[in-house]
Amino acid sequence: MRAQLPPFAARATSVAASPVREILALTERPGVISFAGGLPAPELFDAAGLRAAYDGAFADCAGRALQYSVTEGATELRAAVAARASGRGLPTAVEDVLITTGSQQALTLIAATLLEPGDTVLVENPTYLAALQCFGMAGARVVPVPCDEDGLDPAALEELVRRERPKLLYSVPTFQNPTGRTLPGERRREVAAVAARLGLWLVEDDPYGDLRYEGAEVPWLAAHPGAEDRTALLGSFSKIMAPGLRLGWLRAPGELRRAAARAKQAADLHTSTIDQIAAARYLAAVDLNDHLDKVRGAYRERRDALLAGLGGALPAGSVWNRPAGGMFVWARLPEGHDAAALLKSAVAHDVAYVPGAPFYATAPDPRTLRLSFTTHTPAEITEGLERLGVALSV
Ligand code: PMP
Repeated sequence: MRAQLPPFAARATSVAASPVREILALTERPGVISFAGGLPAPELFDAAGLRAAYDGAFADCAGRALQYSVTEGATELRAAVAARASGRGLPTAVEDVLITTGSQQALTLIAATLLEPGDTVLVENPTYLAALQCFGMAGARVVPVPCDEDGLDPAALEELVRRERPKLLYSVPTFQNPTGRTLPGERRREVAAVAARLGLWLVEDDPYGDLRYEGAEVPWLAAHPGAEDRTALLGSFSKIMAPGLRLGWLRAPGELRRAAARAKQAADLHTSTIDQIAAARYLAAVDLNDHLDKVRGAYRERRDALLAGLGGALPAGSVWNRPAGGMFVWARLPEGHDAAALLKSAVAHDVAYVPGAPFYATAPDPRTLRLSFTTHTPAEITEGLERLGVALSV
């Protein structure tokens, strides 16, 4: 006789497996040109530079690099993050920075630190899928803020904050995932002012800000008046170095950062010591901006190839944007089309994209789709768009 086991926690079963995932699993096969993934281009990783950094860490300080370490992170990496942030116009001290296991962990730590089940979280609509999952796992009530082509509408935000009394606003203001949109400086100023006036935490997630292909940098939300004592800024090495390192960072006001560090202690004690030390050595040895110029140059060409061919691939009446950076173009098919339903036909023609619906907190627009332009050459992109044109016209 074996007694039945107690059930899983509700949160563990609250995030459903998606049918889109199953279709996209088919795109792993060779020959498929996929605009679906959100991956950096592997041929652009500086594998030789990173290998030299790891070799140096093993040669010079293997004992420390392979040992347990402090939760806040390796001082040299925190210092490198602080210097880069200060260089971008946000004065940052070493102590302001917590190193995380990818910026995804920072999201989990913020959720653990700030959210009780039932608390309200405001998000852009659509927004980053794994953030929706993270807030869902925390038991939060996720409420979307109306957005237009420029992102969040600050007046709508203010009204929602007054009505819903949310704990936090989660935003990806620069080259957003999935839309590629960037919130203009003026709106950032207004968002910071709303947070200051009405009492709201801001969670600014910026994994893509360094991937700018044109135009002037827009200062972080965190750098605007009013945001100083209430913004958690999340950064990542995934898109500028390599995602397999799983290195990210959180810059937050003292109390929030200390609470997040306690949550991190409970989660994983600390981020991999050897990876942190190697990353810091890498940053000291190379000019990251030289490497980024190479990456940006390649991605700019890929974005342009996608934008040049999209008109011929999507049905007449489709619309799409022209992101100034990041990895994604966001498109909307004409009335009567359903991007999820059409994905099967696309995959049958050896091309793929991600339907937009899962990125919406509520009221998904089935006509939307996300196209990533980073992992294929311009020639492959052109070929993929030709296939997509055939797939969507049948
Ligand atoms: N935030 C956003 C908006 C993302 O798109 C991603 C990854 N695609 C992450 C956070 C997580 O990045 P990582 O954990 O690799 O730093």
